[in-house]
Amino acid sequence: AKKQGRNQVEFFKGEMQESFEKKMRLEAGLRTALENNEFELFYQPQLNVSLGYMASAEALIRWNHPEWGMVSPDEFIPLAESSGHIRSIGAWVIDEGIKMAKTLKQHYPRLHRIGLNVSSVQLRERNFVEQVKMAIEKYNIDPSLIELEITESVVIDRLEETIEKLSALKKLGIALALDDFGTGYSSLNYLRRLPIDRVKLDRSFIQEMDEDPKKATMVHYIIEMAHSLGLKVVAEGVETEKQMQMLNMLQVDKVQGYFYSRPITQEGLFTFVDEKYGE
Ligand code: C2E
Ligand code: CA
Ligand code: CA
Ligand code: CA
Repeated sequence: AKKQGRNQVEFFKGEMQESFEKKMRLEAGLRTALENNEFELFYQPQLNVSLGYMASAEALIRWNHPEWGMVSPDEFIPLAESSGHIRSIGAWVIDEGIKMAKTLKQHYPRLHRIGLNVSSVQLRERNFVEQVKMAIEKYNIDPSLIELEITESVVIDRLEETIEKLSALKKLGIALALDDFGTGYSSLNYLRRLPIDRVKLDRSFIQEMDEDPKKATMVHYIIEMAHSLGLKVVAEGVETEKQMQMLNMLQVDKVQGYFYSRPITQEGLFTFVDEKYGE
């Protein structure tokens, strides 16, 4: 038993060591990833359920490393945040996403908007609003084509400061969405004060709603509450037809999930609207 116990300790030590080294290597990789063109934006369609056409799409970053292959954003975004690389990566996402919004709108006039994820570190940069403004001017696009997705936890942390930032962003004419809604603190009190257009109902609610009637009830009331506050609701992580039908009945505004499409390349998105969900 003693021997087994020691092996156990060594096992965990080994594993920790490995993950530490892995982090160090990932972080070193991040330093050169931008200049080596290793990032790419994928896009996941968001559909208007009742009308059945693609209204918008969310840009999701991909890191294609020459040796390691695809590295998940859940793995490298936190590292980019703690190391500061998120500033340049985030700026790249905004530039690239706005460029895509312009191209896609020309090809597909029904496009409402492209959603871009913004990290809390990025949002807190002093010149963030200016940065967004300049990118919009650079591509000369209608700012309402751009929606920034901010996660809930960020907002709570520094409410007054965040409200000010978000109001300045709204003044540019862009749209704002609260991401991962329902996972954080979800105080209804701050929701009323934020200058947002939409909430993105977190995947965890959607994935169980077709099996758990209580979850379905919660989704129902969240949608009603959001609507009564004048907010639109996007359901993320829709994977089954049943979920889609339930959400449609509950009058959700848009759906996004593997049921319709995984995140796909820019080219893939063009094909998606041409062949499947354009009309
Ligand atoms: P998120 O913003 O909540 O994005 C949704 C995630 O759920 C994406 O994972 C998407 O691929 C995945 N997803 C979509 N539909 C389904 C579904 O039906 N089932 C399941 N199981 N998953 C689904 P992804 O692309 O790996 O991104 C993970 C997270 O990384 C994102 O969560 C976001 O927080 C962050 N992220 C991605 N791109 C960016 C970016 O450009 N900037 C920043 N700051 N963060 C990003
Ligand atoms: Ca998001
Ligand atoms: Ca989300
Ligand atoms: Ca998330």
